[in-house]
Parts: sequence; C-alpha cells; structure tokens
Amino acid sequence: MSPTTSNAIEIEGLRKVYAGEGGAPEKEALKGLDLDIPQGSIFGLLGPNGAGKSTTINIMAGLVRKTAGKVRIWGFDQDRNPRQSRAAIGVMPQELNLDPFFTPAGALEVQAGLYGVPKRDRTTAEILDLVGLADKADAYARTLSGGMRRRLLLAKALVHHPRILVLDEPTAGVDIELRQMLWRNVRRLNEERGTTIILTTHYLEEAQEMCDEIAIIGDGALIARDRTENLLARLDGKTMVIVPEGEAPADVTVPEGVEVARRADGSLALTYSRAKVSAEALLDAMHRAGVAIRDVRTEEADLEDVFVALTHKD
Ligand code: ADP
Ligand code: MG
Repeated sequence: MSPTTSNAIEIEGLRKVYAGEGGAPEKEALKGLDLDIPQGSIFGLLGPNGAGKSTTINIMAGLVRKTAGKVRIWGFDQDRNPRQSRAAIGVMPQELNLDPFFTPAGALEVQAGLYGVPKRDRTTAEILDLVGLADKADAYARTLSGGMRRRLLLAKALVHHPRILVLDEPTAGVDIELRQMLWRNVRRLNEERGTTIILTTHYLEEAQEMCDEIAIIGDGALIARDRTENLLARLDGKTMVIVPEGEAPADVTVPEGVEVARRADGSLALTYSRAKVSAEALLDAMHRAGVAIRDVRTEEADLEDVFVALTHKD
C-alpha cells in the first residue's frame, strides 16, 4: 500500500477526552481538530500551555489513545494500519524519560529492536554522530548532562529512519549551543533526507526562523494555519504606550487601523501594525490630539497577544 496523498499527516475531527483521575473532572483536550501537514515541510504547531499540542503529538505517535476522529500518517490510517503508520513517525517527547541503566548505544539498540529494525539496517554509530554523542556511546545515561539526554531522545526518535520526525518543545530550557545544534541537525534531515519535521515551541522567533508553515491551536481547536510569512504579516502588531502629562483628552483621533485602549493607570495603549503605520505617525496624531507626552514605550506582540488577537477576530 502506498499513500495517494502529498500530506505527511492528515487529522480529521480529532477529539480527546481525558478521564478525570482521583475525582478530577474530565478534560476535553481536543475538540474536533482538523489538520493536514504537507510532506517535506518543517511545520510548527504553536499554542499556549494546555492548548493540546502534546496531546495531538502523542496521539500521532500512538502514545495516547484518541477518543474520536481519524489520523492518517503517511497515508496510512492509524487504526487500520497501525504498524505502517507507527513506522513512518519518530517522536522526541517533551518529557525526559530515559532508562538510566542504558548507554546511548545500548538505548538505541533497544529502541531499534522495539521498532523491528533488522541488525543490518541499524545505523547506531551514524545516528550518535549526527546528534554529537559519538564519544558518549558507551557512557551510562545517568552520567549524561541534561543536554546530552535531550540529544539521546532525538537519536532514539531516529533509529527506524522515520519519514516524519516530531519534536515536542525540544528547546524549552535548553542552552543556546544545544538549541543551535538541534536546529542544524533537524534542517539537515529535512534537506538531505526530505524528512518531514513537525515541532512545537514556545518561542515565536524560533518558529519564524525554522518553519515553512504554522498551525496555531488554542483550547483544543485550530485557530489559524498558514504559511509562516502570511501568519507573521498578520502578527506584526506592536503596542505603543503613551503616558500623558495629566489626563489624556477624551477624544483622540488616530490613523486608520490603530486601536486605542485606555489603561487603568491613565496611559493610552495604541496597538498598530508596523507594516502599515509608523511610530512617527502615531506621535504626530498624539500631538494633534493635544496629548502632552510624559513618557513613551513600546511593547512587541508576543505569542500570547497573537492568540488574543486571533481568537477575538472571528
Ligand atoms: P500543550 O502541550 O499544548 O501544553 P497538552 O496536550 O499537554 O497541552 O494538554 C491539553 C490539556 O489536556 C490540558 O488542559 C492538560 O491539563 C490536559 N491533559 C494533558 N494530559 C492529561 C492527562 N494525562 N490527564 C488529564 N488531563 C490531561
Ligand atoms: Mg506540551
């Protein structure tokens, strides 16, 4: 059987309800998510904490059982072709779950065994080299630093040469050096082997730099999905905060597309698109409106603002 689609992943109406444990209420983590991820892309899954990113990834990986919906991985229905769909995907999980008694080389051999990779097809040394752990091949996992353990998790995700590599918050709390190394390796896999990369991250700049396409999910549903440049064009919002001398006039006319909010401390927050309005035009408007300016500062839009903006749009 071969896939008849150019999507690496196809998700339809995906729902997940976690049973409440110890008297906790049930939690509907995914509320009918639809998402296609094209083959060969570096795809970002963004969203605030609790949005359902890890749940989505863990369902794709076969680590969490879905409540309803369809998941196709490389054209294979996860329920009808569990073996093929599992073979097509490798996941570097968010949690550090390593057996401390294995060496990196040992851990990769065990993982390869789990995935049924025949001995002759195993490339343990090459994978360890790729993640920069060649010299630690025989060191015990418990002697590895946090960064090395993360690299080992990446290596484990690669043992069966999956067409799709999923990275869940791979750079959260990771130092710059390791972060750059991770991204170099991930890019190489994408460019040289055509591996489809799916990643989640908190860092908008990271997503901006790495991803061709981005889906934003919030509260278990898709909020936006677009090519990165299109999404960023929507997200170039910036806020200029004007602290007036005394009280600001009740009526302040601003250029089109600028939103004015009065904050509790008496300041005016002007939200605008950098692409459309200049800071100078805003300051001019303040002068014309008779606002005496005591202080000015700007606030960049962060992911949180992006969510607020996007969820309030429709
Ligand atoms: P994200 O990765 O986007 O931060 P998650 O997928 O981890 O979000 O979580 C989505 C929601 O599901 C959250 O409200 C979270 O508390 C809840 N959740 C995640 N895992 C479990 C679980 N094992 N049992 C109960 N609730 C869970
Ligand atoms: Mg998560």
